[in-house]
Amino acid sequence: MSVDSQKLSTLMHENRTFPPSDEFRAQANFNDERIYEQAAQDPEAYWSEQALHLSWFKPFENVLKWTPPHAKWFLGGKLNAAYNCVDRHAFGPRKNKAALIWEGEPGDTRVLTYDMLRREVDKAAHALKRLGVQKGDRVSIYLPMIPELPIAMLAAAKIGAIHSVVFAGFSSQSLQQRLEDAKSKVLITADGGWRRGGITPLKANADEALVQTPVEKVVVVQRVGEVAGITMQENRDVYWHELLAESPTTPFEPEPMDSEDVLYLLYTSGTTGKPKGIVHSTGGYLTGANTSMRSVFDIKDSDVWFCTADIGWVTGHTYLVYGPLSAGTTVVMYEGGPDYPTRDRYWQIIEKYGVTVLYTAPTLIRTFMKWGESHPAAHDLSTLRLLGTVGEPINPEAWMWFHQHVGRGTCPIVDTWWQTETGCAMIAPLPGIVPTKPGSATRAVPGIDIDVVDENGESVGFENGGYLVIKKPWPSMLRTVWQDDARYRDTYFGKFEGVYLPGDGAHVDADGYVWILGRIDDVINVSGHRIGTAEVESALVAHPAVAEAAVIGRAHDVKGQAITAFVTVRDGITTDEQLVADLKRTVVEQIGAMARPEEIIFAAELPKTRSAKIMRRLLRDIAEGRVLGDTTTLADPSVVDTLKAQYKDAE
Ligand code: ATP
Ligand code: MG
Repeated sequence: MSVDSQKLSTLMHENRTFPPSDEFRAQANFNDERIYEQAAQDPEAYWSEQALHLSWFKPFENVLKWTPPHAKWFLGGKLNAAYNCVDRHAFGPRKNKAALIWEGEPGDTRVLTYDMLRREVDKAAHALKRLGVQKGDRVSIYLPMIPELPIAMLAAAKIGAIHSVVFAGFSSQSLQQRLEDAKSKVLITADGGWRRGGITPLKANADEALVQTPVEKVVVVQRVGEVAGITMQENRDVYWHELLAESPTTPFEPEPMDSEDVLYLLYTSGTTGKPKGIVHSTGGYLTGANTSMRSVFDIKDSDVWFCTADIGWVTGHTYLVYGPLSAGTTVVMYEGGPDYPTRDRYWQIIEKYGVTVLYTAPTLIRTFMKWGESHPAAHDLSTLRLLGTVGEPINPEAWMWFHQHVGRGTCPIVDTWWQTETGCAMIAPLPGIVPTKPGSATRAVPGIDIDVVDENGESVGFENGGYLVIKKPWPSMLRTVWQDDARYRDTYFGKFEGVYLPGDGAHVDADGYVWILGRIDDVINVSGHRIGTAEVESALVAHPAVAEAAVIGRAHDVKGQAITAFVTVRDGITTDEQLVADLKRTVVEQIGAMARPEEIIFAAELPKTRSAKIMRRLLRDIAEGRVLGDTTTLADPSVVDTLKAQYKDAE
C-alpha cells in the first residue's frame, strides 16, 4: 500500500466559528496571543514560569532533563502537592473560603472551607502514618464521590505515599487486579455508596477482592450506615471516623518531595484494551494541572467550579482535586447520577450554588439532548460564564446544543483533548484568545508541540488525516507505566523515536484547527479509504432523530471493510426502514458515498467503559462474531448481550 493511501481521509467540514466576546477577552487571564509564539520559542522558559505559581520548599535548579523516552522536570526542586492544594490557602487569605461544596445524592450537603479541609487532611495523614504508611507506599482508594475521597488522596500526598484510586463502579475483580498490580499496603473504602437510590456494596466487594492481596489494613468510611450490613474483620478493618478521632489536632508536617517523586498512579479507561497503570510525578504533574486551570479554564478567585467527572478517572484527579485546589478554587462535587431523582439534577445544582464554570463530557451532553431541552430551560443557569468538555470527540450538533441550551449562546466552550497519560489538557482553546469551531479542540495549548504525521513520521500538512503526535516532552506527561517500562516504551514511543504517540487519529484544517478523527485502533478501511469513526458518527448525530452513534468496520469480501452503524435515537422516535434510509442518505450527503453505512442497528444503549466512553472494539467483536476482548472495564455487560442477540436477528 502506498504511503498516501495509509493516510486517514478527512471528510467533514465545519464553517461555524465563535470568537470570544470583547467582554470575555478583556477579563481573561490569558488574552495576549503572543503567548503561543513565546512558549513555542522557549517552552522551558514558559513552563518554568508556570511552575512558579506553585509553592516550592526548595527551588528547582534544572527545568528539563530529556533522555528519550524519559523526561525529568524541575530537578532539584522540592514541594508537596497537598501543601500546594490545601495548606498554602488555609494558612493564607483563603482560610475561610469554601474549598469543597459537596452535594450527596440523597440531598445531604457538606461545605469544607480551606481551613476545615486542612484539618481533615491532617487528621487523615496522622491516621495513615499510625497505620504504618510511609513515603513511597501505595494506598489504594475505592470510595464513592464523598469528601473523604479527595481528603484521602491529599492525606496520602502529604505523607509522600502514592495513591491509586479505583473507580467505585468497578467490580471486586477489577479492584483486586489493581490492588495486586500496585501492591498496596492500605485500602480505603466505604461501607457502601449511593447510586440512583440504590446502594453499591463497596465493602462487600472489597472483602472479595482482598483475598490474596498484599493489603494489610482496610479503612472503612461510613457512608450509608446500618443498611449496608457489612462485617468488619478484626485486626484488619478499622472505621475512618474512629481512626481520625484518635489523631492529634496539630498540623501534619508535609513531606518535602522531589519534583520527580511519584504522586499517584491511575489506570486508563480500558477503551482500547487492558488498562495501563499510568504514573504521574509531583512537580511536573501539578504544574500542568495548575497551569491549565488558569489558562484553559480562565479560573478566578470568584469562580464556582463544577466538574461532573468521577474522581476515579483522570479528569476527576486533575480537575476536581489537583488543578482547582492548587489554584484555591471553590469546587462543587456531586455524589450521584445526573437523573436522580430527576433529569434536571445538574441544572438544579448549578442554580443552587451559582456555578460559573461547568466541565462535563460529550456522552452526558448527548444524554441531555436525548432527554430534551426542557430540563436545563427550567433552571436559572445565568451564572455560567464558561463551559468545557472532555472524554470523546464532541459531535458538532452536541456542541451546538450545549452552546444554546446550557451556555445561552454566550459562554465560550473549551473542548479539551487529553488523556490519562498527558495529565492535563493538551489541545484546547484559551477562551479569551481563540475563536472556537463546534467539534474541534482547536489548537495545542502554549508550551505543547503537536503535529499530525504519516506512517513515516512525516508531517501530513493541512487537510490530511494521520497520527496525532506530541513532539516535545511536557511537565505533566506520564513518567512510565507502573512496573512495566517496556509497555511505556512500546505503546507511546515505539512507533516514532522520541515522539509521543497518543493513539488517536487527527487532521489539521486550513486555519490550523485540530480535529480528532477517532482512535487509530478503530480506523475503518473501506475500499482503500481510511476513515476515522468520529466524522461518520458526527454526521449521524446531526440527524434530529439520533442521540448517539458508534460506527465500526466489519470485514467485507469486496470492500475490505464495510461500515456498521449502531445508533440510539432521541426520546419518542420510532425506528423503521424509513429512518434507516434517511440516516444512510444523511451520511452520504454530508461526507460522501464511501462512508455510507452498510447496515444500521438501532440499540437502546451502546457499550461503554465505566468512564462512559464508547467501546467500539466490542462492537467489532459482536459484528464479526468473535469472542469479546477484555470486558472488565465495561459498564453494563447486559448491553453487549442485548446487542449480540439483536445482531444475530438482523443477519
Ligand atoms: P485506554 O487507553 O485504556 O484504551 P482511554 O484511552 O479511553 O482507555 P483515557 O485516558 O480515559 O483512556 O481517555 C483518553 C482518550 O479519550 C483520548 O486518547 C481520546 O481518544 C479521547 N478523548 C479525550 N478527550 C477528547 C476530546 N476532547 N476529543 C476527542 N477525543 C477525546
Ligand atoms: Mg488511551
